[in-house]
Amino acid sequence: MAEIISGKELSALKKEKMKAQVATFEAKYGRLPKLSVILVGDNPASVSYVSGKEKACIEIGIVNNTIRIPDTTTQEELLKLIDDLNNDDLVDGILVQLPLPKHINSDCVINAIKPTKDVDGFHPENVASLYLKQKGTVPCTPRGIIQVLDSKNIQIEGKNAVVVGRSNIVGLPVSKLLLDRNATVTIAHSRTKNLAEVCKTADILVAAVGKPRFITKDMVKDGAVVIDVGVNRDPVTGKLCGDVDFDNVKDIASYITKVPGGIGPMTISCLMENTIESFLRHMEDKK
Ligand code: NDP
Repeated sequence: MAEIISGKELSALKKEKMKAQVATFEAKYGRLPKLSVILVGDNPASVSYVSGKEKACIEIGIVNNTIRIPDTTTQEELLKLIDDLNNDDLVDGILVQLPLPKHINSDCVINAIKPTKDVDGFHPENVASLYLKQKGTVPCTPRGIIQVLDSKNIQIEGKNAVVVGRSNIVGLPVSKLLLDRNATVTIAHSRTKNLAEVCKTADILVAAVGKPRFITKDMVKDGAVVIDVGVNRDPVTGKLCGDVDFDNVKDIASYITKVPGGIGPMTISCLMENTIESFLRHMEDKK
């Protein structure tokens, strides 16, 4: 029976530490970190993600400015808003909640965010920094996954890691972080042949597919560490569930994360960390 790693508890601990750190900023720097989140439209999942981010800012003491604009907003209007935030010295982090309405090109929008304020780590400059092992902002979900592994001192070096999913926001960056920690990494995707066999080679299995309970017990090696990134709606109950068939996989894994309460809260606490780091960089630059 696997030990469940609670991202909820781990992120609560991290938030307590950040709160204590942020409490010193007013005296030290004369102001608090500020995160601007732009929400275009009212996609229910996006609304819920944005309110989670607002709540975390309030808990920690980060100033939050969520800008809600209608889905009729034009790309030019959105780019102008980003430009204003880029030039606002009091804004440390800018996050545009994805997905955007179809008439807006997400790449153009991400590219418009000043890299030093890109707390999602999606700007090409930050992506390049990750691949070149240079200083930059690491995307929140991959960063949270590594922290979850580290929280239990799970050895990464020399292990076989299989990441199912190759998206720019989860699959690819987490693969790079695992590689940087000297795992032997396999990236699987929708064209992978014999997926079950590939997954069974994993000492560390990361599921970032977006399909409810897609990873079943027969795909998991005995004693594997299983990280479930998926956030899906159960087609029958409508409740949140992950990409891993948790109820059965937990019997053979050594460690496993749960959905909800696993990687989701870690993503938010890493966003808070990225915002604080961005703030501290801005304060350093001002010296
Ligand atoms: P994407 O849809 O961008 O990527 C999904 C990946 O899964 C693709 O690479 C795709 O392969 C692969 N895939 C799809 N079907 C199969 C299959 N049958 N066999 C093997 N691979 C398959 O999703 P994201 O990476 O953005 O997100 C993945 C999941 O993680 C989602 O549920 C999302 O909601 C969740 N998520 C959770 C976060 C959190 O904070 N917990 C943050 C971000 C995402 P291909 O490239 O070949 O199409």
